[in-house]
Amino acid sequence: MSPSTPSPILGIDLGTTYSLVSVFRNGHPVIIPNALGEFLTPSAVALDDHGNMLVGAAARARAVLHPEQAAFAFKRDMGTSRTYRLGSRDYSPQELSALILSSLKRDAEAFLGRPVEEAVITVPAYFGDPQRQATKDAGAIAGLEVERIINEPTAAALAYGLHERQREMKAVVLDLGGGTFDVTVLEIIEGVVEIQSSAGDARLGGEDFDTLLARHLALQLRHAKSVDLEAHPPGWARMREACEAAKRRLSQTDRTVIVLPELPVGEGRKVDFEFSLTREEAEHAWAPALERLRGPIHQALQDASLKASDIDEVLLVGGSTRMPVVTGFATQVFGRLPLRKLPPDEAVAMGAAVQAAMKAGDQAVDDLVVTDVAPFTLGVSTAAQQGHRRITGIFSPILERGTVIPASRVERYWTAGDFQREIRLEVYQGEHAQCSDNVKLGEYAFSGLAPAPAGEQSIDVRFTYDLNGILEVEITVVATGRKESFVIEQRPGKLTPAQIEEARRAMSALKLHPQDALPNTTALARADALHVQLTGLPREELASAIASFRLALQSQRPELITAARDHLTALVMRLRER
Ligand code: AMP
Repeated sequence: MSPSTPSPILGIDLGTTYSLVSVFRNGHPVIIPNALGEFLTPSAVALDDHGNMLVGAAARARAVLHPEQAAFAFKRDMGTSRTYRLGSRDYSPQELSALILSSLKRDAEAFLGRPVEEAVITVPAYFGDPQRQATKDAGAIAGLEVERIINEPTAAALAYGLHERQREMKAVVLDLGGGTFDVTVLEIIEGVVEIQSSAGDARLGGEDFDTLLARHLALQLRHAKSVDLEAHPPGWARMREACEAAKRRLSQTDRTVIVLPELPVGEGRKVDFEFSLTREEAEHAWAPALERLRGPIHQALQDASLKASDIDEVLLVGGSTRMPVVTGFATQVFGRLPLRKLPPDEAVAMGAAVQAAMKAGDQAVDDLVVTDVAPFTLGVSTAAQQGHRRITGIFSPILERGTVIPASRVERYWTAGDFQREIRLEVYQGEHAQCSDNVKLGEYAFSGLAPAPAGEQSIDVRFTYDLNGILEVEITVVATGRKESFVIEQRPGKLTPAQIEEARRAMSALKLHPQDALPNTTALARADALHVQLTGLPREELASAIASFRLALQSQRPELITAARDHLTALVMRLRER
């Protein structure tokens, strides 16, 4: 590649639990390995012992022993004003996401050997306007121009579309990740990927399965030892971590053992916990989460005017679709075995890279076209007169859920009061008749009306919804043609350009854990997290490997360090698989 070729646009799957970065090369998406040589970077941030910021696997492993110094699953809070305290500072979800994005950007730059500045980032289809803006802000803080925000299932459909473009089919994408569930119905005809509907639950994912299993086991512990584990964060975090690992093992085997020695249960007490769990018992505990998958599937099919039997292919995306109980559920609902041509945790990142290639005008994808739909209804608050009563807060939809985007729709409204000079336009998203049940996106005061009796003056309100799912509102006074337009600004958590600049400066001033030391730090953090869970001989064996590795680190001799680290990593993998 010559230096004059434009630097590639990255495709980033910014997940709740894991994130991936991908780039389109020689006609295919390629997933980029991180500094550890792994494709999946845990979406976790933590402080190390020296106050340096750790990102990825080391941060996640550290969260097991020091949950108070770690932040994870912050994607769930994107677009809200919630903050996370790490050390002496509070971090917004955008800042934490920016740390993940910066780390992926660094990995991509090391892989490509050149700087990158642009990215396509995926979000759950059900992300609303505030979360999408927050994702763009996170990109800006990380120094990435976000060329496009696309829906995760649309990205997955694009990755499949690239493979299956010779076929004609109606398909459903079931995307069950760590924290979200999305259902998308689409049709592929001669390279045109047409999204027909999408629905989802922004608070349902693999973590709910972890929690349900942890609750089930905590209940056993309560019966046996009269302790309330959920009320004690360190013990509860270890239990959830162990349940996540057990859940993964149960994707391969029918039975597993969960061993948690010296589990802290509060008031300085520790108990040894050991439990033999069958897949059947776990699946029983998971039933409530599984049942919740039904609603969004039903809604997406209904919005596309299809029945489950009309679907030709079921595409599974997201790490949690590796669970046999989820595959079984999908098979039962659609009456066919799901298609599994792409690794479920890589399809979204691959699709983001395909979209990036389309954006960059790559010839290998010039026959691919994608159309998407608005996942929720957007409208304004209106009032109505019923006899002498004036009812306010009625939701008047302007752009219906399922509209193909980009889209622009206009509705006309009349003034409700005599000689009204000002209109306060409140914008909502949601499906309920009452605005108070929907999500308020913002409001705008428009004062350009001429004095006139009630109902004699009208305005046109136009909603333009772009491909990133971001909304622009335009108001026109019909009589005079006077126009004003706005993009909603005053949302909780929405950053101004000055705040983004400030956050960028703050992030670049952070002491980052050096990337080249990550393999060593991660190996140690993973070993430490496992050490507390073991007992007896395996624990001794691990302790001795940790000690050898620490000695090797002190020697500063690269060949000794690599040998000791490889030994430790292999041992951790072996002991984890037991
Ligand atoms: P994603 O957000 O798509 O990366 O999905 C991450 C979720 O998938 C987490 O909740 C993981 O626990 C879950 N997951 C990953 N691999 C497996 C597996 N083999 N079996 C069950 N769940 C898994």
